[in-house]
Amino acid sequence: SRESVKGFLKRNLFVLLTIAGVALGVILGFALRPYNLSLREIKYFAFPGELLMRMLQMLVLPLIVSSLVTGISSLDSKASGKMGMCAVVYYIVTTLIAVFIGIVIVLIIQPGKGSRDSPVANSRNIEPVQAADAFLDLIRNMFPPNLVEACFKQYKTAYKKTVHTRNVTVTLNLTDSLNVTESGLSENLSRVLHTIQETVEETVPVSGSFNGVNALGLVVFSICFGLVIGNMKQQGQAVRDFFDCLNEAIMRLVSIIIWYAPVGILFLIASKVVEMNNLAEVGGQLGMYTVSVIVGLLIHGLFVLPLLYFLVTRKNPYTFIGGLLQALITALGTSSSSATLPITFRCLEENNRVDKRVTRFILPVGATINMDGTALYEAVAAIFIAQVNDMDLNFGQILTISITATAASIGAAGIPQAGLVTMVIVLASVGLPTEDITLIIAVDWFLDRLRTTINVLGDSLGAGIVEHLSRGKLQSQNAEMRNSVIEE
Ligand code: ASP
Repeated sequence: SRESVKGFLKRNLFVLLTIAGVALGVILGFALRPYNLSLREIKYFAFPGELLMRMLQMLVLPLIVSSLVTGISSLDSKASGKMGMCAVVYYIVTTLIAVFIGIVIVLIIQPGKGSRDSPVANSRNIEPVQAADAFLDLIRNMFPPNLVEACFKQYKTAYKKTVHTRNVTVTLNLTDSLNVTESGLSENLSRVLHTIQETVEETVPVSGSFNGVNALGLVVFSICFGLVIGNMKQQGQAVRDFFDCLNEAIMRLVSIIIWYAPVGILFLIASKVVEMNNLAEVGGQLGMYTVSVIVGLLIHGLFVLPLLYFLVTRKNPYTFIGGLLQALITALGTSSSSATLPITFRCLEENNRVDKRVTRFILPVGATINMDGTALYEAVAAIFIAQVNDMDLNFGQILTISITATAASIGAAGIPQAGLVTMVIVLASVGLPTEDITLIIAVDWFLDRLRTTINVLGDSLGAGIVEHLSRGKLQSQNAEMRNSVIEE
């Protein structure tokens, strides 16, 4: 009936607008492709999308800190302990399953079999980054010596010894294949290229950061701070109120920005479609590699994670996923799980009615360390590169890849193409040539969007699962709170 159609439109207004934004973006992008816009023109055209990215990113830092501090200080220690345990187990189990799926698929499809189709890189004797150093950096970043500095800088060990400059031809080949000129490289691409040179010269992995922010360090600090403030009873009230208010204010800003999101996404997608290399032309080994990653991500996101959600909660996972659509589309548009975080919060709290005490605790941690899609992709890419190099991996090496792929996904920042950078650790751990990252770079922007979507999906289903598992503790805390109000 008319009323119910109206109700449906009203309830799903933002999702419908966002889907319309994606569709229009794709159409507009393809319509503009024949005009061969210059990079400068594309950059101007992408401007409304860039603004959305900036607005979302602006909110992430205060959102992470305020939600963790209020979330955790509002829980009693039993509830937060239980929740933390459930979350950690969920993160580890799902990431390992993702890696496993990736490995099985890449071993079945064998995308890298046959003789190598693109000639790359000549220098072989690069001193590999030590997985141990990368791991220590990850832990170092958990304990930033300076909190203010952690807001704009993360720790990296520099390996100046291994100077081995990549020759310019490789860089030019790369830019050629992406059909752009050196001077006009988009910001993102030049960052990636820079990183590759850096990996060759310094082999520096990035740990849990976004936009230079040491998110991991802030997450760890906020959790500890929240625990302490929560235990301070009356004395801590002012600080609790402050962070509570800050959190509420940020969420209100999110509900303003959400009006702009469909426009921003339209332009993010359209400008990417204009700029992208012709994906249909990606054939051969790279094409099969792309297919392997996509199949793995689909299996994990559409079957495995929903099944896990169903087994634990006995609720329909696809209804839950329906409520997340806007966050998933934002992940696809921005290829950053950090930038998507504000929208993920909104979807879970408004559409799926997940307890705020859970989302505030679980989501910021998930967006920083839980990346199933990235882990899956890292495993597939590493084994693909081994296949291209005709290197037979034994069981031990495959095990090493699973472990380092998991670590690399934890270490990857929630920003575009961070996974490509942390790949270095995985490759180096089994002695694969790190410069072969250049083999997969042409399709990485595309796979990045897909794996980011799965990352966000994993975080969100995780919040639903953790809520279900800790409902007993949450209810008893509710009861206690009610009693203390009555006593007062
Ligand atoms: N872009 C991904 C994310 O934000 C990380 C990656 O590059 O895999 O979740």
